[in-house]
Parts: sequence; C-alpha cells; structure tokens
Amino acid sequence: MRLYSTNNKDKFVSLKEAVMKGLPEDNGLFMPEDIPQLPKEFIQNLTDYSFEEIAYNVCSSLFKGVIPEDILRTICSETVNFPAPIVKLDDNRYVLELFHGPSLAFKDFGARFMARLMGYFNQGNDKELVVLVATSGDTGGAVAAGFYKTPGTKVVILYPSGKVSHLQEKQLTTLGHNITALEVDGTFDDCQALVKKAFLDKELNDSIRLTSANSINIARLIPQSFYYFEAFKQLPKEVREGGEVVFCIPSGNFGNLTAGLLAKKMGLPVHKFIAATNSNDIVPAYLDSGEYKPRPSVRTISNAMDVGNPSNFARMQDLYGFTWNNLKDDVVGFAYNDAETELGMKEILEKYSYIMDPHGAVGYNAVKEYESKLERNPTSIILETAHPSKFLPDVVRVLGQEPHIPKRLAELSDKKKEAHFVGISFDPFKNWLLKHY
Ligand SMILES: *Cc1c(COP(=O)(O)O)cnc(C)c1O
Repeated sequence: MRLYSTNNKDKFVSLKEAVMKGLPEDNGLFMPEDIPQLPKEFIQNLTDYSFEEIAYNVCSSLFKGVIPEDILRTICSETVNFPAPIVKLDDNRYVLELFHGPSLAFKDFGARFMARLMGYFNQGNDKELVVLVATSGDTGGAVAAGFYKTPGTKVVILYPSGKVSHLQEKQLTTLGHNITALEVDGTFDDCQALVKKAFLDKELNDSIRLTSANSINIARLIPQSFYYFEAFKQLPKEVREGGEVVFCIPSGNFGNLTAGLLAKKMGLPVHKFIAATNSNDIVPAYLDSGEYKPRPSVRTISNAMDVGNPSNFARMQDLYGFTWNNLKDDVVGFAYNDAETELGMKEILEKYSYIMDPHGAVGYNAVKEYESKLERNPTSIILETAHPSKFLPDVVRVLGQEPHIPKRLAELSDKKKEAHFVGISFDPFKNWLLKHY
C-alpha cells in the first residue's frame, strides 16, 4: 500500500510513514493510492460477518499485507470491541449509535485503531513519540483513552479554553500518566493552527519525534469506514437488497463523512450522503455555490462541529477529482442554527421517545429536509456521534429531562482537572514542548 499527498499525486509514502508523520510536508493530506472494491459477495453477505471480521476485511484489502494478518486481526478486534447498533425510529429512519466506546463518541473508533497502529509501527524505537492533537471537544477524550498508558508514547492535547463541555474537559484533563492537556486561549481553529505549525517547525521536529492524532491522520479515518458496513448489515433484507440507503452525518472536520465516501468507493451501495452542519455551514454552502469560503468558526450547542475550515475537505475533493459536480452527485448539505437544532431534539423526543444529543439532532433535521424534497422516502441512517449525556446541560435545558448517564462518565465528575494554560501564540507553545520533551 502506498499513499500520496492531496497536494502532490506523484510522490508516495509507505503506510508507516503516513501514520507516523500524520501530515505530508506540502501541507496536503495523505490518501491511499488505490482504494480497492471489496468482493461483491462480501457486500451481499455482510450479515455473515461479525463487526471484527468486517473491520479486518476492509483494512486488509486497503493495507495489502503491510501488517501481518494476526496482528491486523488483533488491532481490528481491539478497535471494535464495543457495538455500533442501529436503532429504528420509524419505518424509514434509523439512528446509528456510535457512542458505546470509552469516551462515548464515535472518535473512539479512530483513536483506538490509530493508537494500536502507531504502537505497532513504533516498536523497537527508543526515542519517545509525542502525539499532538487539537480538539474541539471529543477528539481529545477519545485520543486520551485510546493512547492511555501506551508504552513509549506521550500525548499532548490542545483544547480551546471555555469552549468544550465540563465533562469533555474532564475527559482530557484527568487521566494523567502519559496524557497532558494544554488549555489554549482561543478557538478550536487556533488549536489546530498551532498543531499544524508545530509539524512545519524544523527546530521542533529535529528534537522531538512528533506525530498527529487529529482526523487528518489516515489511521483515524480508515476505521471510521467500518461502521458504515456494520450499519448497512443491520438493515432489513429488503432494504439491503434494493432499497435506497442514505447516510446522514453531522459534520465538523468531515472525517466521518469522508470515511463514508471511502466505504462507498469500496463497494457499499450508498445512494447519498447528507452533510449536516450547524451554523458553520462552509461545506453546505460550497455544495450550493461551488465556492469554498472558509471563515472563523462560530460557537454553537453542537460544539464538536464548530469548524470554520474543515480539514478533510481536501480529501473529499480528491475523491471526486476536484470536481464540484461529481461531489454533488453523492453529497447533499444542509445547515441548522441552534434554535432549529433544539426544535429537532424536542421533536425526536416527542415523536420517538428517543433522547438525541445536539449533534445528532442536526442530522435529524437534515434527513427531514432531504426527504421533503423527494417524492419517495429513502431509508436514512443518522449517525448519532455522541451520547446525549456528554452534553448534559444543554440536553436538560432543552428537553427538561436527563438522559441515562453511563457509569464511566458519572465517575469523572469527582476527578481533578490538570491542564497547562498556553495562551494563543506559537512561541510559548513551542517553548513548552521543547522544555518538556
Ligand atoms: C467530532 C465530532 C463531530 C464531527 O465529526 P467530523 O469527523 O469532524 O466531521 C460530530 N459530532 C461529535 C459528537 C463529534 O465529536
């Protein structure tokens, strides 16, 4: 398997290099040179395969023997050691619950896979690896849990001060051991800019073995395609064999949606992807106009999607030959403000007795709007990206009732926050890194 940069299709790197470096030097994003179609009989017989076996089949066909079979099987089974069930809302709407992992959000899949892949590639190296990650909320908790106590690895998490939920903050700041949290006096985009700059800084890279853990790392992206197959597998037979299946993805950096596009490219029969955003509507606006206009993110109640310049946009473009019309064939986009999101949450509770978090509710609104434009009803799967208890204050305020609070979250409240405050400019952050690693 080889990978190229979205900025240079003629220069290739190995999987190991792509995973350990995270980002190509030319500031593009790594993409697999070849995205193979899975055998038709695999897709037709998905119900014969466990989630672990689906995961193994997807990545072994991409990796083509780069990792020994027994090791790859272990990595896959440890990645998907919790379920991804679909829950039926009504005859044509389903919710794919991606929150059954340790940090209660879908990012656990990517983080667990990446930590294990890096651990494998890092074997035999005596210089410690420093994993940098910027988070708008959920990435940090997932990465912290995924890498916790991984030998030879330190994790540095940058998060925007005051812009993540109380419990999200606890998830990143209470583990200790090899996990350190840096509190940045700015937005998620500022955190992401600091991380990007660190990778381009020669002095830092000469003295520290840096790698990234954002959704920009290809090792985060690939495992997120597993659950599209897993969700499809759970649909009724008649839908799998001739229905019109639509996935709706509440999106911020668009890693999750890009992984779905990958699944389709590998042969999963998806009719359409719905890109659902909050007021940070850069991609829906692009799908409408053909013009990509990034801008500073604004704060919303679905804060894990507060992204003003989605980092995976280059990958989406790359998959469709940088052609607006081609992308528009497969992806439609809708955006909702907070008031609309809250109405969506209320409606889901009233109609279905289901408590959905603000991110998932953005997806629900988008499915409704998409359906309203058609004469028929496709089968929609809305990705519920996090457990509602992760956004407790807003969920309680909007719905007037508390969701069930999983034990692993409840226990966090009593733990003590530990974070270093680093302002917003690059030099203090760089000096902090040089001093500590
Ligand atoms: C990260 C996250 C998103 C956005 O996912 P992207 O892959 O960045 O588009 C949506 N919802 C939740 C709860 C998240 O944590």
